[in-house]
Amino acid sequence: MNKIVAIDGPAGSGKGTVTELIAKRCHLVNIDTGATYRAVALAALRNNLTIEDKDAITELSGKIDITFDEAGHVYLDGEDVSSEIRDKEVTKFVSPVSSIVPVRTNMVALQRKMAEGKDVIMEGRDITTVVFPNAQYKFYLDASLEARAKRRFEQNKEKGIDMSYEEVLDNIQKRDYNDMHKEVGSLIRSDDAIYIDTTNMTIDEVVDKMVKIIEGD
Ligand code: C5P
Repeated sequence: MNKIVAIDGPAGSGKGTVTELIAKRCHLVNIDTGATYRAVALAALRNNLTIEDKDAITELSGKIDITFDEAGHVYLDGEDVSSEIRDKEVTKFVSPVSSIVPVRTNMVALQRKMAEGKDVIMEGRDITTVVFPNAQYKFYLDASLEARAKRRFEQNKEKGIDMSYEEVLDNIQKRDYNDMHKEVGSLIRSDDAIYIDTTNMTIDEVVDKMVKIIEGD
């Protein structure tokens, strides 16, 4: 059976960073499920769709081709959109787009297909509960709102994304609310996921703790 490491948690909890590092250390394929929703949001924006156009966004989500390469680049219909999917406009639009139930159905099917026959590490909001509830390793990463906003603000600065701290904080707060109140695929801390509060931990500490668990047997 292929190995599946499932990680959920809110924006800025460290999921993305630690997942990349653990993927390298444990030789797992990294599937960034948030990037699949971001690609749909980007495609919708490019087609001038608004959140009122739910049917058109759903149709689009079933038509577009979303792929990752080994370096973690994200492709939309063959075009590398790795940095564009992190743009402010996409970041603001992605949570409502990911609330559209049939869009989720399409993305969950795509994510499961991407994992077929591989040893994978997957992070998102509904991996431990919906995509792979039977994964061998399930984690829920968390951190205080302020710590998460601060981390995301610093990451954005490094990537040249122009958002003030207040904007980042406001965006994370709105996404938290939206992500926790979805009709389907809400962010839920499940009882059988190992809970790690990363507020006062370094990235290395979090990675070491998780690798010990993953490679412990
Ligand atoms: O992880 P990231 O911040 O890139 O995710 C972008 C958005 O995609 C999240 O705010 C969330 O609304 C949505 N998402 C989701 N289910 C996932 C991963 C992300 O709904 N498995």
